[in-house]
Amino acid sequence: MPNDSSPSTGLAERLAVGLQALLPDLYDAYRDFHAHPELSMAEHRTARIVAERLRAQGGWEVTEGVGGTGVVGVLRNGEGPTVLLRADMDALPIREATGLPHASTDTAVNPDGETVPTMHACGHDIHVTCLLGAAQLLAAHREDWSGTVLAVFQPGEETAAGARAMLDDGFLDRFPRPDVSLGQHVGPQPTGVVAVRPGPVMAAADSFRIRLFGRGGHGSSPQQTVDPVVMAASTVLRLQGVVSREIAATDSAVVTVGSLRAGFKENIIPDDAELKVNVRSFDPEVRERVLAAIKRIVNGEAQASGAPKDPEFSPLNAFPLTVNSDRATARVMAALGAQQDIHVHEMRHPLPGSEDFGAFGTAAGCPSVFWFFGGSDPGLWSDPRQGEKDNLPAGVAGNHSPHFAPLADPAVPQGVRHLLHAAAEWLAEG
Ligand code: ZN
Ligand code: ZN
Repeated sequence: MPNDSSPSTGLAERLAVGLQALLPDLYDAYRDFHAHPELSMAEHRTARIVAERLRAQGGWEVTEGVGGTGVVGVLRNGEGPTVLLRADMDALPIREATGLPHASTDTAVNPDGETVPTMHACGHDIHVTCLLGAAQLLAAHREDWSGTVLAVFQPGEETAAGARAMLDDGFLDRFPRPDVSLGQHVGPQPTGVVAVRPGPVMAAADSFRIRLFGRGGHGSSPQQTVDPVVMAASTVLRLQGVVSREIAATDSAVVTVGSLRAGFKENIIPDDAELKVNVRSFDPEVRERVLAAIKRIVNGEAQASGAPKDPEFSPLNAFPLTVNSDRATARVMAALGAQQDIHVHEMRHPLPGSEDFGAFGTAAGCPSVFWFFGGSDPGLWSDPRQGEKDNLPAGVAGNHSPHFAPLADPAVPQGVRHLLHAAAEWLAEG
């Protein structure tokens, strides 16, 4: 719904003047980030480049080392709302298979001391580049708006550690408190498409490790043991009933046991077994029910087996539910939809993936909006305005695939414009 007369669209268009001239440099920055991915909470090189570039833009107060490797830029420009724009910086332990000229061949040592290949397989290099571009245009056009912009370059999104670490490092006390928190994620949708919805937009995720205790012994004499392999197998099967038997058809959740380990040898019954479980949910009450059911079943199966000791639960990570505020989302949808050649799709369902972006808005008590924008060739889609689809067309890879290769041209300029148009909704008031 083009609405050229709105003050925010007018402001965004003025801010975007000069974007074309910035693109060669932004593509260089993007290719460099892409070729040198860094694991979660170890984004040292990326953070250094981000901080150098922000300083070079002028006007930004730049703070490094916020929550580890986080970088915060503050641009104070008179009275008006404070807008937080967030980009995540981390990459994944995946061996890149895109065949791009700027593909990563880097490796890194993970927290377990293993050397792993690294790849920007979730497109966070695009997010960083887009926010640097938007930051530069906001700084260059300070006479056109008033208010404060917080450019937040967050570490460790993939492990759910980064937003928390920045908040724990005094983020809210050290920097101006935001009136709105905005973030975006590149996905496999066609370029030119934005997918967004009010309400829950990404799942809560809870991961934990469960240790089941038995009593080991010789494989020939199971009567002298408590077999943790049978206990684990029975637990895994019973857990499949949580969603199908305990959650209403109108609610939804996912329970996945992604790892089951026990024993080393066929004729030795081991002492213990280990499960790693991942839960996704879209509603806090459903989440509580699922987590309680898992606990009950795991304890119950251990008891039924005559376990000598209660199972041990250790959390691995937890992502909060990502919820888009209704009114702020309506404003962002109108603002993004006012752009020529951009199609805004209202998602029917939240995505089962997870994010820690919502932690900023929740902590600050301000509305937040998170949207997805496409990075794939529209020519590969039967409907080039496709905003959500379970099966991707041939030649299109999703996030976390070794083949994920969003088209920086035009995803970078589109992502820069999305940030400007969304931010202008608030900064035009200032
Ligand atoms: Zn990811
Ligand atoms: Zn991501």
